[in-house]
Amino acid sequence: MEEELQFCEKVPKIELHAHLNGSISLEKLKLLNDNDVPTLPQYEITSSTPLKQCFEVFKIAHTIVNNPLKVYEATLSVIEDFYKDNVIYLELRSTPRMIPDIMTKDVYIESVIKAIQTASLTFPKILVKFLISVNRAHGIENATENILSAIKYHEMYPEYVVGLDLSGDPSEGEAFLHLLERARNAGLKIAAHCAEVPNNDEVEDILNFKPDRLGHCTHIHPDLNGSNELFEQLLTSKIPIELCITSNIKCQTVSDYSKHQFNYFYKANHPICIATDDKSVFNTTLSKEFQIIKTHFKLSSKELIKLSLAAVDYSFATNNEKEKLRQIIKNFTYLE
Ligand code: 5GP
Repeated sequence: MEEELQFCEKVPKIELHAHLNGSISLEKLKLLNDNDVPTLPQYEITSSTPLKQCFEVFKIAHTIVNNPLKVYEATLSVIEDFYKDNVIYLELRSTPRMIPDIMTKDVYIESVIKAIQTASLTFPKILVKFLISVNRAHGIENATENILSAIKYHEMYPEYVVGLDLSGDPSEGEAFLHLLERARNAGLKIAAHCAEVPNNDEVEDILNFKPDRLGHCTHIHPDLNGSNELFEQLLTSKIPIELCITSNIKCQTVSDYSKHQFNYFYKANHPICIATDDKSVFNTTLSKEFQIIKTHFKLSSKELIKLSLAAVDYSFATNNEKEKLRQIIKNFTYLE
């Protein structure tokens, strides 16, 4: 087990699904917590917790990370964590937050960008991009605001702000597909959470919209409350899926590893990548997620590296950047 984890730690990895505020380590949160948020010990989800309740946990980080300097510091520390886990490419996603008299959404976005700029000098071995999130539960006005900001900052910082993420509590709100279309027309890539809860009508709409990547895709196979038609539609679309195993198990969207959608998509040779979702909330790392794939789904070392290499193709990096990332992974040597 320990040997497997050590191997997974050494593999150069690509992280395509990480929410900023769910990824801030407990240590960093404690350092930033000058308000003495009393609920801190409950931050980490250690046992099975219903998905709805998981969304309450994010509010703890939101209460603590409550000014531009803390957003900057938190972002930098998350990048450092991934860098130390041998992640060579990271797409961080985050929902711009406004705090009256303290921080506008623009200042929030700029603080994240500043941290990415600093990281490019301090940790040059990790390439970082930013996806601006739209919370589906926060209403159309909020969604419109975030999408317009994403377009604005993509124009200003095309090397950092590369895409839009649709996330938030899947049992609330809507997918705002007509708004996502605006972002797509402005050159932003779209990553959309999909089928975290059974909702076949919405899944069909999202699949018809054809985002660049999909998150989770849990309830699509007929064995997981989806349907044959949706599963076939997704396979035909070849849209890459970001799979976050620990997150799904801990939030109980699947009951155990043997039922996880990984089984269906991997067997079907569908494009997938492995991701952490919220590494701090779910007490994981990308290396641990790789180890889980090795242990529970019986992938060989070679197959793991192949997953890492394929993830480069699904990233929102430029072609030049992708080529450099592929070289790093191809140069990785190991003993079988
Ligand atoms: P933030 O956007 O504040 O940096 O990161 C936390 C936010 O990401 C949460 O409030 C939530 O909107 C979103 N998020 C984190 N994990 C998940 C997840 O597993 N599913 C969905 N749908 N949204 C998530």
